[in-house]
Amino acid sequence: MSRQEKLPNQLFYLSLNVCEEILGKNGLVSILNFAGLKKFIGNYPPNDFEMVHDFKDFTRMATTFVEVLGERGARAIMFQAGKRGFSLMAKVAPTLVNIEGIKPEGFATERKFDEFLKMYKIMTDASVAIFGDVYTLLEQEVGMIFEISPCYMCVGMKTENEMCYIQTGFMHGAVAWMLGEETKVEEVLCMAKGDDRCRFVVHRPKD
Ligand SMILES: [Zn+2]
Repeated sequence: MSRQEKLPNQLFYLSLNVCEEILGKNGLVSILNFAGLKKFIGNYPPNDFEMVHDFKDFTRMATTFVEVLGERGARAIMFQAGKRGFSLMAKVAPTLVNIEGIKPEGFATERKFDEFLKMYKIMTDASVAIFGDVYTLLEQEVGMIFEISPCYMCVGMKTENEMCYIQTGFMHGAVAWMLGEETKVEEVLCMAKGDDRCRFVVHRPKD
């Protein structure tokens, strides 16, 4: 399976705005300096689909959190960034993953998880166009299994524990948006800790 080399501006626009919101302007400047991504300081790419920047820049932002804050320190911030990333995207850039027009409040409660699965399939197809053919999505009794290999988020990272908290937070944001309630999302395999893929489980809520 292969990865795309360039990513749409919109992804950088969302990530940088979310990081600024969470870390503050100065915090983000420090991270970008440390990451060697000075080109983004005070110069966020626009909210459009142009493919200008390398996927490596995107990865670099994620790995820098771990380098600067350590595994434990980075977890909560990465999770929060992923979660907020989904809600900002749903608001200002829903066409990025084809979810424009979806209104979760329109679905009956007992059908919501199935609607979430449908929505995530649509999002995954759109993400293949952005990131490349790196995803596997499976439905199981427990809920939804989502795999990424190779992972654009943790490539090059070596950690003790699973580290793709941005992805976990993003999926947590997506399922909470659809269901109107929180449900358990966890990463159970991660390439950063030596597994052959990153695997996420979104648990079907118990009644
Ligand atoms: Zn991972």
